[in-house]
Amino acid sequence: MDSILYTAPVSFPEEALFKALKMEYDPDREETDIVLELREEALKIASPKAIYKESTVEITDRGTILDGILFPHSLLAKKLAGQKVVYPYALSCGVELDKWSQGFTDPLEAYVADGIKVFALYQFMGEFRQYIKETRFGGGTFSALNPGSLGEWPIEGQLPLFALLGDAGTKAGITLTKDYLMVPTKASSGIFFASDTEYHNCSHCPRLDCPNRRAEFTSIEI
Ligand code: SF4
Repeated sequence: MDSILYTAPVSFPEEALFKALKMEYDPDREETDIVLELREEALKIASPKAIYKESTVEITDRGTILDGILFPHSLLAKKLAGQKVVYPYALSCGVELDKWSQGFTDPLEAYVADGIKVFALYQFMGEFRQYIKETRFGGGTFSALNPGSLGEWPIEGQLPLFALLGDAGTKAGITLTKDYLMVPTKASSGIFFASDTEYHNCSHCPRLDCPNRRAEFTSIEI
C-alpha cells in the first residue's frame, strides 16, 4: 500500500495560543501585538502534513517485519505481537511554518514563532489522531510506539520507519538528518496499533522532567 497524505487546517485560537506561549493577553502591551501579528502571518501559511499507511505485521526470530521491512527492535516485537495490521506515520508542523520561523532574529519574535510551530504541531496531531481513531480503529482504543525515547526502539529506528513510509520527504516534506532527527524539527513519528488499554512510551521513559510527558512514569520495564 502506498503512503497516504493527510492534511488539516490549524486555527490557533487566541486564548489557547497565549496560554501555550505562557504569555498574558494584554491589549496595552507591545508583546500582545507581536503575538497577534505573528499569529495572523502563521494562519496564512500554516500547512501541517502527515503521511501514513497500513502495514502488515509479521513477528520473526530476527525482529518485526512490516511490509517486508525489518525492525530488529524488541519494543515492537513485544507490543505488536498478535497484530495483523498497524499504521506507521510521520507528521510535522509543515515546511512553510518552519521556514517562516527561521526568519526572526528578535528574541521575542523568535520565541513566539517557535511556540506557534509547537502549537501547530500539537493541534494538528490531535486532529490526525482523531482521524486515525475514526477511520482505522472504528472509534476504539489505540496506542502509538515512537522511536527515540526508549532503548528498546532507539532513534536509529527512524531509518526503517522512513523506509517503510517511502515518500515522507516528497509527499509531506519530512526528512531525516544523518543523526536520524526529523526536519522540520517540530515533528512526530511512530506506529499506531490497536490496544485494549492505551500504551505510552512515557510510562517507561526516565526523562522525568520532559515537558512533553503524556503519562506518568511507572517503571523502566516494559
Ligand atoms: S517523557 Fe518525553 S522523551 Fe520520554 S517518551 Fe514521553 S515525550 Fe518522549
